[in-house]
Parts: sequence; structure tokens; C-alpha cells
Amino acid sequence: IFLGPPGSGKGTQAKKLSSEKKWPQLSTGDMFRNSIQKGTKLGNMAKSYMDRGELVPDQVVIDMIADRIHDSDCKNGFILDGFPRTLPQAIALEELLIQQKLSLDKVVCFRIEDTELVTRLSGRRTCTQCGSMYHVEFAKPKKEGFCDRCNDFKLFQREDDQPQVIQNRLKVYHQQTSPLEGYYNKSK
Ligand code: ADP
Ligand code: ZN
Repeated sequence: IFLGPPGSGKGTQAKKLSSEKKWPQLSTGDMFRNSIQKGTKLGNMAKSYMDRGELVPDQVVIDMIADRIHDSDCKNGFILDGFPRTLPQAIALEELLIQQKLSLDKVVCFRIEDTELVTRLSGRRTCTQCGSMYHVEFAKPKKEGFCDRCNDFKLFQREDDQPQVIQNRLKVYHQQTSPLEGYYNKSK
């Protein structure tokens, strides 16, 4: 499990470890963004929460993850990136792992100051074509607003990387997700 606030780099690190170890990266945020792009019912529903920086209801996320970990590529393990995010999700995960005869190896916890997170998130830009990440100050593309790799494909700012939504995501993290650090420390 990669556990950490928005903008802490958990997705980036999960991606690296995933390609090194050949374990699939299960990012619930990416799964929702895919559904949104496809215009599915699940996507539309998730979007209404994501745009406000709120969490999607537990049961929805749990069902989605339960479905995914039954896929054959998950049988030798996987990296959870962005799940669990609440105590009920953590408890549901325990059940799911027992059913799958898997056990939790490690929880990697990312700790970064809020001010740093705000700087990272508000300047973040992505290429929707290749997934490359940029930052308007710290990882500038060669040509402002366009991807270096994708023949000048226009960069995109996530809807939830707007200042007000960032504030809410951080608040939600501190209230609902950070208690999981203690939860996993105790169950070590
Ligand atoms: P970040 O960690 O940068 O906030 P994610 O891509 O992990 O980004 O998540 C984006 C949004 O997707 C969250 O703000 C939330 O609305 C929704 N989401 C993702 N994972 C979960 C989860 N485990 N439980 C509830 N909502 C989730
Ligand atoms: Zn690109």
C-alpha cells in the first residue's frame, strides 16, 4: 500500500516500482479518471465527488477494487495506490485479501508538508496522451503548455488541482486518511 497525501508522489513512485517488479499498479484515482473519460455511469458518479475534492463513497471504491483484484494479473501481488483511504476501506481490504489468500507485505507512508503539497499540485500539468507529468516551475516542458514527447500535445491541468479543491483534498486527507497511518502502525 502506498499511503500519502495528494501530491506526495505516491503515484509516481508506485509507477516506478510497478514497472521494476512487474506488479500491477492499482490506482483508484486513475480507474475513476478512466471511467470519466469513457463516460460511464460510475465515472459520472465519481466525478461529482472528485471535482469537489471529496471522497467517492466507500462501497463504490471497495466494489471496484474487489473486481480488479480478481483479475489474473493480480494473483502474484499488486501495489495499491490511493486505496484504502478510510478505515472502512482498510477493513474491507483485509477481508478481500483473506479471500484471495494474499497478505499485506508493506505500507509505505509518504510524509510531506502541506505548503509543499500545495506548490506541487497547483503547478502540476499532465500530458493526457503519454501520461508525462510536468510542473510549471520545477519541471518545465521545453515549450510552455505542451508535451516534449508527444509532438507538442497540449498539457492539461486536473480539475481537482484548482486551489480551492486542493485545500479540501488536504483537509479530507488529514481527517479521513491520515488515521490509517496509526492503524497500520499498530497492526504491524
Ligand atoms: P490524489 O491522491 O492526488 O488526490 P487520486 O488520483 O488518488 O489523487 O484521487 C483523485 C480523487 O479520486 C480523490 O480526490 C477522490 O475523490 C477519488 N478517490 C480516489 N481513490 C479513492 C478512494 N480510495 N476512496 C474514495 N475516493 C477516492
Ligand atoms: Zn506526452
